[in-house]
Amino acid sequence: MFDQEHDAARFKRAFAILCRDCRSWPQPAALLEAMPRRDQLALTKQPIPADPDSPAMKAKFDQIAKLFRPDPKRKQDNGHGHVVTRCDGLKARCGGPGLCEVCNKEAQALKTGKARA
Ligand SMILES: [Zn+2]
Repeated sequence: MFDQEHDAARFKRAFAILCRDCRSWPQPAALLEAMPRRDQLALTKQPIPADPDSPAMKAKFDQIAKLFRPDPKRKQDNGHGHVVTRCDGLKARCGGPGLCEVCNKEAQALKTGKARA
């Protein structure tokens, strides 16, 4: 595909080459062959100046670590949700107390006061 803004100079150069070299009317392919390549920016390796031991980077790392650290105030959501309501409101398909051993243990712990309400 050709873009007038980028390729106008290439067309002019190609026609100049054909005018210089051809003694007869050129084929369209000759124009494309005479056309110079598009100028492209060179890819260079740009080092990113960063010192992982700098206080600024340590602060950033702490900030990121804080995002992934679990909130200690948040309830643990490892129960089945029938006896003790989970934070996410989900319930396991276990049948609840009377059918499920885990739910029975949760209910027993709740009765004896060893579990959270
Ligand atoms: Zn259960």
